[in-house]
Amino acid sequence: MNKIALGCIADDFTGATDLANNLVRAGMRVVQTIGVPTGPLAAEVDAVVVALKSRTIAPDQAVAQSLAALQWLQAQGARQIYFKYCSTFDSTPEGNIGPVTEALMDALGTDFTIATPAFPDNKRTVFKGYLFAGDGLLNESGMQNHPLTPMTDPNLVRVMQAQTQRRVGLIDHAVVARGAEAVRERIAALRAEGVGVAVVDAISNDDLLRMGPALAELPLLTAGSGVAIALPANFGLAPSALAAALPAARGLQAVVSGSCSVATHQQVAHFIASGRPALPIDPLQLAAGEDVVGQALAWAAPLLAGGPVLVYSTAEPGAVKAVQGQLGVAEAGALVEQAVAAIARGLVALGVRQLVVAGGETSGACVQALDIAQMQIGPQIDPGVPWCHAASPVAGEGGLHLTLKSGNFGAVDFFSKAFALL
Ligand code: ADP
Repeated sequence: MNKIALGCIADDFTGATDLANNLVRAGMRVVQTIGVPTGPLAAEVDAVVVALKSRTIAPDQAVAQSLAALQWLQAQGARQIYFKYCSTFDSTPEGNIGPVTEALMDALGTDFTIATPAFPDNKRTVFKGYLFAGDGLLNESGMQNHPLTPMTDPNLVRVMQAQTQRRVGLIDHAVVARGAEAVRERIAALRAEGVGVAVVDAISNDDLLRMGPALAELPLLTAGSGVAIALPANFGLAPSALAAALPAARGLQAVVSGSCSVATHQQVAHFIASGRPALPIDPLQLAAGEDVVGQALAWAAPLLAGGPVLVYSTAEPGAVKAVQGQLGVAEAGALVEQAVAAIARGLVALGVRQLVVAGGETSGACVQALDIAQMQIGPQIDPGVPWCHAASPVAGEGGLHLTLKSGNFGAVDFFSKAFALL
């Protein structure tokens, strides 16, 4: 059996891909699973990222799902466990970062772990335990107004202490700057004081790489995706194009977009301006019961042989508001997601084997419609967005390549650049 080195549990889907992408770039071969797998691993890899949807569910459920993921990862031989959360530490006063961390510590029989959402590449830095997003503190970044997880306190020692029974401490930048040996000494001192979780400062990738060796001995790490860059070296792995190798690409090419984010708008406009065929779909026609999916597939079928096509619901904020006013926000979202997912499935049935999906929620719906359980992570197209390869009963033998681009990720030419990379 292929024994994995690192087992990761991510509290949401796109965050899981972000972590997997960082691990691949640092030299690990990675598979991301959608939920806890029921079957064997699809490929021989160094790390597995189990993607849960546990960020905002009830703490006891988040704990139960995370423990189930842990058990499966341990059965694959994982030597170290990585609990991955958002780089803005998205959580409520009840959790779920604290309760899940504690449950994993208990299950692993360890009295100490770290907590750091630092991700300098994405302008998330931690200094003296305070989390910065861009140039300002977390609670001035807009995150204080988040609908589900408002973050009003930038001090992570306090935030974490409110969520856990264990004592929370700090490994501050002065220690990190002196390197791994200083971090080791500080960990020993904190442990002796009875500290169970230490927030760790990091303001640059160099900080993360410096602390890396000191993390090798810990059974459990909790972090954003930043710390990942320092871990493959602990397992004797170095950055290599081989880690991102996927099966050869084949088949037809298509893009579906259910994202209305600013970056996606520009990408859709760029694709249309480059002269490629593009079809908008209208939520009101969907709501009226028209066969929008069938019409889109009939439109695409004769065009696919000529290169990539785009089907999109992407619309201006005014148009989206109008549709939401008529149908309801959740209803409009679900209706469009299901339609885009059905179109993605139909396109794959027509022979598409290279599929770009835009939209976080839309991606979840497409992966479900294609019955995808695991994705092998390949080369990065733009920061945070890699190509993946997956088995799907709709694609049959050989599977398909897909990339899942959430909201504001990707450069303006993302849709064409993606296919050029494969
Ligand atoms: P992003 O990653 O950009 O936030 P998501 O797919 O997560 O994209 O979310 C976009 C949401 O908007 C989805 O629920 C989608 O179904 C919905 N949506 C997409 N297009 C429209 C539209 N034209 N009118 C109303 N809702 C839409």
